[in-house]
Amino acid sequence: MSDNTVEQVIIIGSGPAGYTAALYTGRANLRPLLLTGNEVGGQVAITYEVENYPGFPEGLTGPQLVEKFQQQAEKFGARIEYDWVNEVDFSQHPFVVRTASGGELRAESVIVSTGATHRKLDVPGEKEYTGFGVSYCGTCDGFFFRGKEVIVVGGGDSALEEGIFLTKFASKVTLVHRRDELRASKILQDRAFANPKIAYKWSTVVERINAAGGDGNGTPPKVVSATLRDLKSGEVYDFPADGVFVFVGHTPNSQLFNGQLAIDDAGYIQTDRRYHTSVPGVFAAGEIQDPIFRQVITSAGQGAAAAMQAEKFLGELEAHGYRQIAAERGPAALTPA
Ligand SMILES: Cc1cc2nc3c(=O)[nH]c(=O)nc-3n(C[C@H](O)[C@H](O)[C@H](O)COP(=O)(O)OP(=O)(O)OC[C@H]3O[C@@H](n4cnc5c(N)ncnc54)[C@H](O)[C@@H]3O)c2cc1C
Repeated sequence: MSDNTVEQVIIIGSGPAGYTAALYTGRANLRPLLLTGNEVGGQVAITYEVENYPGFPEGLTGPQLVEKFQQQAEKFGARIEYDWVNEVDFSQHPFVVRTASGGELRAESVIVSTGATHRKLDVPGEKEYTGFGVSYCGTCDGFFFRGKEVIVVGGGDSALEEGIFLTKFASKVTLVHRRDELRASKILQDRAFANPKIAYKWSTVVERINAAGGDGNGTPPKVVSATLRDLKSGEVYDFPADGVFVFVGHTPNSQLFNGQLAIDDAGYIQTDRRYHTSVPGVFAAGEIQDPIFRQVITSAGQGAAAAMQAEKFLGELEAHGYRQIAAERGPAALTPA
């Protein structure tokens, strides 16, 4: 659909950051339009159980939480469209957002919350057993592995940080790394090597993740081992483990914004403390701009903050006009990196 309507706020992405931005801008009477993308609810939608989102002491499933996010945003006037954004043009104002369904939308402000994608191992068992022993988040799932033995895959800072964190719960953490040395920072390496609960499988890759149960009689599957390959000797063997934590990289979904917004070397959209991007009127929240915290609550909090800033921007726009705001932010703000 293409008409002359200019939206006050378009939100790109339906993870915790996007839905929370929709709730806040909805309650500010801005009638936000949220474009969901292909993963409605974002990463949390594939989470089996969320126990660390405040307000739900019994915990709830990821899809249940997403449903509540959406209901609450819609209650305050947010409009949700199941569409994918193909292209944006932030060099003109109102901004232009083009979607896969052929829509050419225009908006006074945009909140980008396209999140990130955890790199996968792409081995059999990984997708099937995500949430049943395969995890991409120690902070989220470590608690479920009290007294258990787990594998951590990776050799960078995330793998070591999360591996060290997991030793608070697991009786043993085996770090499986395809090289014979770690990429992680020296300080993390020192901490990991000093931790008696962490063991190492060097020059080794995971070939398959194996589970028991899940055979249709109502019992969920449960990871029991990983099939490992020693890259030096070629030996292939099953290694018992109750969980496999994968930390082989995290890719922000920012390709769409190349040439439009300032993006750092790792692909994260650059924001200031108020979630402004390099273009006045375009805000970014959640994992698309946050390589550090990566939680539902932090992403939701950043979505709320970006929404409050968008509301403030729209007030200033009405009073001063876009050219003046952009001029006050300096020439760099008008020229996307
Ligand atoms: C398996 C797993 C379990 C987890 N468990 C927990 C947990 O228990 N507790 C916790 O706090 N955190 C958990 N996390 C982390 C948490 O899910 C993330 O931190 C959070 O979802 C990030 O929110 P976000 O809104 O920034 O982005 P995301 O959740 O990544 O959502 C991004 C959204 O952007 C959309 N999108 C992307 N590109 C486009 C486009 N071009 N056009 C339109 N839309 C687009 C996607 O469809 C998606 O809706 C888990 C993560 C994973 C992977």
